[in-house]
Amino acid sequence: MTEAFAPVDFWTALRRGWRGRCPRCGEGALFGSFLKMQSQCPACGLVLEPFRADDAPAYFTILAVGHIVVPLVLAVERYGDHPPLWFHAALWLPLSVVLALLLLPRIKGTVIALLWTHRIAAPKPEGLGPST
Ligand SMILES: [Zn+2]
Repeated sequence: MTEAFAPVDFWTALRRGWRGRCPRCGEGALFGSFLKMQSQCPACGLVLEPFRADDAPAYFTILAVGHIVVPLVLAVERYGDHPPLWFHAALWLPLSVVLALLLLPRIKGTVIALLWTHRIAAPKPEGLGPST
């Protein structure tokens, strides 16, 4: 079954992961619910279970959200009229949560695709089939 798939280049696989799709076929959904990864692709049967992203998506999401929100906070403090703390809390906390919720599944899909492209699987990737 795995031999029937054309080779997938690195960036295509990452783009598919970002969209929440199987990195090999681009058709099947990676997630059964918000962040719950499917055990295998419903379209091509790629076994996804060994490609566990663990804490990496949360780390990268925090990194990304921090690099978006913190400069905005500093810019508002610098160029604004020193707004009160309640203003910062009312603005930046919801923005941080919304950004995290938007980015987390996309980053998780990308990390899973990255793991798949490099065959970084646990346990050993025997029998998982090539990306081709
Ligand atoms: Zn698939």
